[in-house]
Amino acid sequence: MKYFNPEIETMPLGQLRRLQGERLQNLAAHLYERVPFYKKQWAEKGLRPADIKGVEDLHKLPFTRKHHLRDHYPFGLFALPVEDTIRLHASSGTTGKPTVVGYSRRDINTFSEVVARSLVASGCQPGMKLQNAYGYGLFTGGLGLHYGGELLGMTVIPVSGGMTERQLLLLQDFRPEVICCTPSYAQRLSEELAARGISPDSLNVHTAILGAEPWTEAIRSQVEAGMGVKAVNIYGLSEIIGPGVSNEDHEERGTGSYIWEDHFFPEIVDKDTGEPLPEGEFGVLVFTTLTKEAMPLVRYWTNDITNIYYEHSEKRTHIKMGPIRGRADDMLIIRGVNLFPTQVEEAIKDFELLLPSYQLIVSREGALDSLAVKVEVKDEVLRALGRPNLAQKPEALPDALRHLHAALAKKIKESIGLTMAIALAEPGSIPRSEGGKLNRVLDLRKGG
Ligand code: ADP
Repeated sequence: MKYFNPEIETMPLGQLRRLQGERLQNLAAHLYERVPFYKKQWAEKGLRPADIKGVEDLHKLPFTRKHHLRDHYPFGLFALPVEDTIRLHASSGTTGKPTVVGYSRRDINTFSEVVARSLVASGCQPGMKLQNAYGYGLFTGGLGLHYGGELLGMTVIPVSGGMTERQLLLLQDFRPEVICCTPSYAQRLSEELAARGISPDSLNVHTAILGAEPWTEAIRSQVEAGMGVKAVNIYGLSEIIGPGVSNEDHEERGTGSYIWEDHFFPEIVDKDTGEPLPEGEFGVLVFTTLTKEAMPLVRYWTNDITNIYYEHSEKRTHIKMGPIRGRADDMLIIRGVNLFPTQVEEAIKDFELLLPSYQLIVSREGALDSLAVKVEVKDEVLRALGRPNLAQKPEALPDALRHLHAALAKKIKESIGLTMAIALAEPGSIPRSEGGKLNRVLDLRKGG
């Protein structure tokens, strides 16, 4: 099977636009009638549903932001009575109350379909086994992949996140072809396999579907080598539906992820002005859910920074998005320089002697913020050098490490524009994913 839904996935763009336009018109009418929040917000701008004739009018409507969801906690933005929903999910949220989302039966069917499309794009086929190591629960990852896998006709193994011993046992004994989890947890599994001397060749797994947090090519290389898989990206957020808003094609890895734009209409806007940006430029990703019933969102400000572009691929007509650099909230501002942790990950990638395992440590000295990066050196390198003490001053390190230290500092300075203290560390000394998302920033300023 090349596509889960060939008609939609290869629909000529003109036809896709018309479909989106019709869906948007219906959505606007539906929300105006049913959700006081939208009626009020649009009325303030003198807008009525009849003003929205197609996606080209979308920019007239105001954004919906995370705080609107919080202000209407828990069910105030629902467009259906709660008793007509068949499931609720919630995202953790960094502060205070979670963000709640509801699904009608049709929404769950849509969710399952977009995940099934994503699975086929990832290289899955009916009959393959899917080890689902996303967390089950209020988080959308576990159940999202579960229903999509079942719809496709895969054999889903609902192991959930964490429990590394059990994951390894299942990989060896159940012999799944596919695993899905966060990229940081896939790094962990790669390392645990190596630590136990389990060769990836002895496993049957050939595909890892990774998402729920930002990751770069450095992690892709580590996981592909460490697990013997092709690693593909899956993206999504609970507010829009969950995982499966977009997905990479396994044969087009590294060129971006197809957004299933018949359901989720994307825009990229300037993070400061909110103005729509031309195709290809980087900004905040904004989505309008064209078909959701229980909790549709109009121009939802995801806070994720990326770009979108048509690649005119032979395979599908839908637009692609590049990797997420990070959430706008995760952006660090250090001495006036903005940076995302993934930029450091990018910088590390070219250094053969390093692992893509790093931590950023932010601290404050007087009135100035400073940033240090701790990054692990590969075990075989340290072994070959007779296990030097990495805690000593860089000048005292063996030549290879001294040069590495200087070259990394230079690379970071050039690519990011910041001088960072660099600490080379023993492999395994930086916290690993326990099964879910990994926070790579240690902020010592908090509370200070
Ligand atoms: P929570 O808010 O609890 O973390 P969500 O699953 O809703 O739960 O999180 C969605 C967010 O996770 C996205 O907005 C994005 O920041 C991040 N994310 C999800 N998938 C990816 C991905 N493939 N690459 C980068 N970031 C991702």
